[in-house]
Amino acid sequence: MKHNGRRYYPFSQFLRERFGCKVYKLPVDAGFTCPNRDGKIGYGGCTYCYNPSFSPPILLQKSSIPLQVKYRKALLKRKGKVNKFLVYFQSYTNTYARVKILKRLYDEAIQDKDVIGFCIGTRPDCVPDEVLDLIESYAKDYHIWLEYGLQSMHDETLLRIRRGHNFAQFGDAVKRTQGRNIFICVHIILGLPGEAKEDILKTTRALVRMGIDGIKLHHLQVIKNTRIAREFSKGEFKVLSLEDYIKLVCDVLELLPARIAIQRLVGEVLQDKMLVAPRWNLNKHKVLSAIDQEFVDRGSFQGSKFDSKKS
Ligand code: SF4
Repeated sequence: MKHNGRRYYPFSQFLRERFGCKVYKLPVDAGFTCPNRDGKIGYGGCTYCYNPSFSPPILLQKSSIPLQVKYRKALLKRKGKVNKFLVYFQSYTNTYARVKILKRLYDEAIQDKDVIGFCIGTRPDCVPDEVLDLIESYAKDYHIWLEYGLQSMHDETLLRIRRGHNFAQFGDAVKRTQGRNIFICVHIILGLPGEAKEDILKTTRALVRMGIDGIKLHHLQVIKNTRIAREFSKGEFKVLSLEDYIKLVCDVLELLPARIAIQRLVGEVLQDKMLVAPRWNLNKHKVLSAIDQEFVDRGSFQGSKFDSKKS
């Protein structure tokens, strides 16, 4: 299986097949917070969380959503032919507000005529039925993704990284989301403290069984001033080498059926001065090329080990 020379199914390809043109995600900051930070579930957040590394530039954060969309769109249009856009509610927990407020924010996202839908990053414990009902109401006319941060299926790991939810809550959220014409993307982190390769593959198999539509793979990054940075400085765990990460990514992709869209293959950090370890992801192109090469060397591809009977 090859998609534009790649041995996995990139999200860009998924969107092109569906909409017949190039579609870009436009990240916005809608001013949400997170229940794992504001005290509802916990204080201090997940041990690795450094939100500015996945937030838009400060200048944009206080702007309205339509203004953020306009700015992002102009930047992309300057770079080439871009036809359609998905607004990406990225920062913090983008379903963590009253339905009335969510409706106003989501309505703002679709004001632009070139916006064909939106993606909402959230936690599995923040999607009550009334919020899912609201999101479903957009899915009739727009292309909608819910992106669930899971990171691992192992409750021991989730406790260790202080996620504030367990795997059962994720399973419940997925079940209640399915059947609503909402696509489900799941974020997982490879290289979490205490996890070995088999733990990561177990998480992958569980996600396949649940019938998710897309996945984002991140490597564990240690960012300054986080709790995990303190654990790292005490030698409580090691980060993955580039070589080990590449192998793990291919191991994971081999288990995924070919229909699952790959939305991300490596974590990104916007402020490299904040990055403690590892440093190899600063050259993203090198990482992606190494993944392609590993597949070629193995003679394998996404789904080559997918077994529909076992999954
Ligand atoms: S759920 Fe997301 S935003 Fe909240 S603390 Fe964890 S990583 Fe940070």
